[in-house]
Amino acid sequence: MKSSADRLAWSLQQCIAKKMRMTGARKRILRFLSESRQPVNLEQMGRARGIKGTCDNATLWRTMMSLEEFGIVRRVSLKSKMAHFALATPDEHHDYLVCQDCGTVADLPHTHALDALQEEISKTKGFTFEKHEVEIYGTCPDCQPAKR
Ligand SMILES: [Zn+2]
Repeated sequence: MKSSADRLAWSLQQCIAKKMRMTGARKRILRFLSESRQPVNLEQMGRARGIKGTCDNATLWRTMMSLEEFGIVRRVSLKSKMAHFALATPDEHHDYLVCQDCGTVADLPHTHALDALQEEISKTKGFTFEKHEVEIYGTCPDCQPAKR
């Protein structure tokens, strides 16, 4: 499910399957999320083209909570300073880089090293894995100069 159109189609199908009422706000938010390759926070959603000026923060938050409840979006990186959301598409796997200064959550590009690690842990601990989701904490490039 790599293309934005596929991701949007999946999310709309989920809404129908789960008998979720399709409001304008929900549709606009799903469109934005399907086009986002990175987890997004409420502020970014509120500024996005197609959403800006159409709903306030309270509506955004309520919408995200119900989409999460229905399993269409998921909250990622619960320990970040800000809530970040991503579409809960089934065949995508993500790892994240979390900035402890500004709270940004960025997608960590897929690396085979993590798959190898999972395999090794599986062997040494006798643990069968379903999936992994790794979060690495630190300071993002934007926040680093301020520290020096
Ligand atoms: Zn930062």
